[in-house]
Amino acid sequence: MTVSANYDAIAKCNKCGFCHVACPIFRATGHESGVARGRLAMLRGLIEGRVEWNHELEDPLFTCLGCGACTTNCFGAVPTADLVLNARSEYFERVGKKPAHRLLFEHLLPYPKRLHLAARAAALGKNSGASKVAKAMGLLRIFGRDLPKAEGIVEKLPTTSFRGTTRPETYAGQGKDLNIGYFVGCGVDVIQVDAGAATFNSLKRIGKSVTVLNNCCCGLPPWSYGDIENTKVLAEKNLKVFAEADVDVIVTDCSSCASFLKEYRKVFAGEPQKLELVEETRKKLRDVVEFLYTAEFGASGDKEAAVVDSYHDAHGSGSAAVQAVMKNSGKTVVTYHDPCHAVRGQGIKSESRELLKSIPNVEFREMAEADWCCGGAGSYALTHYDLSQKVLDRKIGNLKKTEADILVTSCPACMIQLAWGIRKHGLNTKIFHISEMTAYKEGLTA
Ligand code: SF4
Ligand code: SF4
Repeated sequence: MTVSANYDAIAKCNKCGFCHVACPIFRATGHESGVARGRLAMLRGLIEGRVEWNHELEDPLFTCLGCGACTTNCFGAVPTADLVLNARSEYFERVGKKPAHRLLFEHLLPYPKRLHLAARAAALGKNSGASKVAKAMGLLRIFGRDLPKAEGIVEKLPTTSFRGTTRPETYAGQGKDLNIGYFVGCGVDVIQVDAGAATFNSLKRIGKSVTVLNNCCCGLPPWSYGDIENTKVLAEKNLKVFAEADVDVIVTDCSSCASFLKEYRKVFAGEPQKLELVEETRKKLRDVVEFLYTAEFGASGDKEAAVVDSYHDAHGSGSAAVQAVMKNSGKTVVTYHDPCHAVRGQGIKSESRELLKSIPNVEFREMAEADWCCGGAGSYALTHYDLSQKVLDRKIGNLKKTEADILVTSCPACMIQLAWGIRKHGLNTKIFHISEMTAYKEGLTA
């Protein structure tokens, strides 16, 4: 779809400016070009021929986090993130794709084995210091101007992927009758492998069987860059995997994957034969937060209501790591960061808090602007490092005020960004995936 086809939606902006207060990029820069109103004015200019398609559009088009906060604050609910994303697609057609996009979207993300190999090579380079050599030689610059700066965000990389040790196949569980498919997102597969192990164990406790799916990337990275063609390739591969799996539900512990998998109908708009399968799959999809919430607090009569929760982590050893942070006497202060794709993408907000409040000796303390984007936004920190750090610094400032011992979230990309912010600001707060916390509780009540 071209930008011109969205003219009516773009023209709905009445220029009131209510979006300004909610936009993390505007709050970081103060520039009108970085807020919904400015971005929409630029899109209108493109349609009306007052603005030209050229490289100068890169910043206004690609600095949007896609967080959707502007739409929540807009009376007309103008879907700026979607409109900008659509314009990115036309930008690629008219102005051209970058080589790094081609490498990632066409040659790595559709193939989990290649991704594992690339991650392993990156881990060896990072853990041995070879990436510093590459940085010194300027080799990392081929991936974008900001990658060399962003290289410190991930402290250490595991040398084995989650599915390198837990192969994609069906495993017996301890539950009675629920057959669960586990969709392993790229972040969990190659970085947060402990979180993957924890999810897997938790799902096994709940399900009669757990099938670790041989899925590829959900498609959100190319979609965010407006690369519809490569998004379709990934989505089609995943739909085939879902159709072949004999499962009642499909659970993922990445809120970004969960949100995007539920939105595959956008990818196949206008293709009725695909949409039928998309809708069938959608009914089975669960973010791990909603799945664990249903397991903990019950739901009306479906199979999931009969189960118990749990799961675990990312940095270190899951619930044992939580155990080390929890205070022996008195309350441990816990706060929560809402991933954009959970809170606005799927409407998940109270569930995560209820899960945390149900843990003994936890004092839940709400963080100001908990639902603001952390600046991670997928690969945003790699392509727009300085801007992403401004957004992150604001988030960490709010975290500091809570004096929390533990920060919890449910998206691997947010975890990486927030962990970097905590390190950078020298805070003692530890970060955990929500599943680690429920695993800790499970250990207490087992
Ligand atoms: S709040 Fe909505 S209508 Fe108002 S300026 Fe922002 S995008 Fe336009
Ligand atoms: S989606 Fe987020 S970053 Fe983009 S304009 Fe809206 S509020 Fe700003």
